[in-house]
Formats: sequence, structure tokens, C-alpha cells
Amino acid sequence: MSDFSTLGLSETVMQGVNDAGYTTPTQIQAESIPIILAGKDLVGASQTGTGKTAAFMLPTLSRLGESGKLRCLILEPTRELASQVKSATEDLGKNTNLKTLLVHGGVSYGPQKDGLEAGVDIVVATPGRLLDHMQQKTIDLSNIDVLILDEVDRMLDMGFLPDVRRIVKALPENRQTLFFSATMPPQIEGLASWVLKDPEAVEIGARRSAAETVSHYFYPVTDSQRYELLMALLKKTDFHSVMVFTRTKAQADRLFADLQKAGDYKCTIMHGDIRQGDRVKALEGFRDGKFDVIIATDLAARGLDISNVSHVINYQVPENADDYVHRIGRTGRAQKEGDAYTLLSGAELEHAKNIEDFIGQKVPRKKCEGFDYKYTALLDDTDPGARIAGMVRKRKTGIKRRRR
Ligand code: AMP
Repeated sequence: MSDFSTLGLSETVMQGVNDAGYTTPTQIQAESIPIILAGKDLVGASQTGTGKTAAFMLPTLSRLGESGKLRCLILEPTRELASQVKSATEDLGKNTNLKTLLVHGGVSYGPQKDGLEAGVDIVVATPGRLLDHMQQKTIDLSNIDVLILDEVDRMLDMGFLPDVRRIVKALPENRQTLFFSATMPPQIEGLASWVLKDPEAVEIGARRSAAETVSHYFYPVTDSQRYELLMALLKKTDFHSVMVFTRTKAQADRLFADLQKAGDYKCTIMHGDIRQGDRVKALEGFRDGKFDVIIATDLAARGLDISNVSHVINYQVPENADDYVHRIGRTGRAQKEGDAYTLLSGAELEHAKNIEDFIGQKVPRKKCEGFDYKYTALLDDTDPGARIAGMVRKRKTGIKRRRR
């Protein structure tokens, strides 16, 4: 693989690369950087944790050169992602004089308006708040040269595509557009063909594959023993930081309360109903090692760069196969090893099968050694129908329930 110095990045940006400690470009960086430096449009399908942010930011910072007007707009689906991309941009561009501003909801307008008025080169925004500024005419997008649409599949999930279209319509036509989406359902293909001009495509690995550095397993269990098994897994696992995903906010709250009551782990929580300030605190505390466990919903699953997650545990099987890939992508980032466990009950077998079809591989079933399983049939690796049919209660000596 090539060296960063052969890719044509500017000197100040190369200093940022060296300061970040990057020595070898990842595959998406090696492939995308020359295309972006040449001013071409790009459509990239990339797994999370592949170095995508630097892949688009390094050449963009190089092309922007000196500070001037607002020339680069980056759209992100969530506040956390926007704030993460802003930090990466500032780190990688710290030897340039380019200024970056974060524009997202959940915080007051004042500092954002002041920042825009003072002048910035790059805005990293979520769609809703950006539209507010556009309506209030507090942002001037007439000099945008580079538009970066990141995590477009997530924008689709969150219902942002109409907002994205409105924003794109307000931008100069003569610009470079970089478009990233881990998956390309038809609605996204439609947006891509409308927004991009003669793009070069960069596809890293199979679009649907789970990160290669992750070992993932299904742990069959009945619903009634789900919490017990989670505790047993946590106890047995030599983890330093673990993300536990639940399907709903209410389940996250419940699990958080139970884990706090148990008191064995320093744990925190993050989902859409948690106040923005507390979300930031939770994430920062988790990153800094103040918490061992973070309980999260899918809001946290996409793209967030928390580099030292050693384990991901899906408390329930995600209904959406695409979410599975994103969730387990939280571990095993940038070639680090990681493990992902998914607790699987009989009612979730169909979701499990969808996931296996989606990623094109069978996820091995594992048993937690020493755990007192109430039902054992789910542990047999036969076909789902047979597993359900054969689900028999393990007889416990001495405990007999009488039928009335
Ligand atoms: P991303 O896929 O952009 O979220 O990046 C995932 C992680 O990989 C981040 O922690 C980056 O700082 C890190 N990273 C990106 N590019 C490189 C590289 N060339 N060498 C080492 N680490 C990298």
C-alpha cells in the first residue's frame, strides 16, 4: 500500500497526518484521496471504521488551501457525528489556518450566528438546524465549492432526504460533491444520480460485510434469562469498554437502572431522549475510560468513532440487518480486534436469519460456559424450525409445577 507522501496532499495537511500518527493510508484513503484532489465527484461505499473521515477531509483541506469564505459544507445525520467530524477536521487541519464551525440543533443559535458572521471556511451541520439558518438568512452558501454528504443511508433512515434535497438545491451547481453511504437502496441511488456529476465510485470490500476484524457470535437464550446471561457474559469477559445496544429507549433506560442497581460496573447511557449535554458527557466519559459500559440505542451505532471499544453486546437482535453491521462496526475499528455478542431468543430467529442472509455468512452460536440455562434446545445449531419445535424445558430436579 502506498505512503501518504505519494498522494499529493499539501504540506500543512501532511503535518496534520504525521501529528495524528497515521503512517499508511487505509484502502479507502489510498483510493479516494487522488480522486478528490483531482476535483472529481466521488461516491463511496465504505464500512465504518475504515478511515473514511480522513479520506474525505485530508484532500478537501488540501484543496481549500488558505482561509477565505465558507467553501465547504459537510452534512451529517446526527449531532454526535457532526461533532466528531468537526474535531477530526480541526485535528487534521490544525497546521492550516482554516476555520471550522459546528451547526446542529439542541443548542442555542447565538454562538452559531456569531461564528458564521465572524467567517468560517468549513461548516459541519445536521440538516434541520442548517435549514433554520438558511431561512433566517444567517448563512451564506453561495461560495460552496465542496459538498460532502456523509452517512447518507442514515439520513434516509432518519427521514432527512427531503431536507437534504432542499439544501442541495440552494447550493451553487458548480461544485464538487462527495457522497458516502454504507448501503445504496434505490432512494439513495436516486439522490446520488441527481446530486453527483460523473462521479468516480470507490467501494471498499463488500458493501454489506461486517468489519473483518470483529469476531461475532450469537448467544441463544430465553427472554426470561436475557438479563442474567448479559451479567454472566460481562463477568466472564475480559473487556475494557463495552457498548450494549438495546432496541428501544425504554429498554435502554430499564437496563441502565438494573445495571446501576447491581453496581458492578461504571456505566452510562446514551439515546435520543437524553439531553444533548448529557449525551456529550456520556460519550466523553466512555471515551476517557470513566465508564466501562455504555448502553445505547442505534443513535449511537452509526459512524461514531469510539476507538477503544473492546466489545459490543446486542441485548436484542436488531430488527434491521443493516443496523447489525453498523453496531458491530463500533468494535474492531481501524484494524483493531474486537468481539460482538448478540443475545438471541426464539422469537428473534427470523431477524437473526435476515442478518445472516444480509452479510452472507453464518454467525456462530455460542454457549456461555457455566451458565445455568433454563432452555437448551435453542443452543442446538439445527434449523430454526426444529429449534423452536424442540424447545423443551430442562427438567430441574425437585421443582415440579402442578397443573391445576
Ligand atoms: P473513521 O472510519 O473515519 O471513523 O476512522 C476510524 C478510526 O481510524 C479513527 O480513529 C481514525 O483516527 C483512525 N484512522 C483513520 N485513518 C487512519 C490511518 N491511515 N492510520 C491509522 N488510523 C487511522
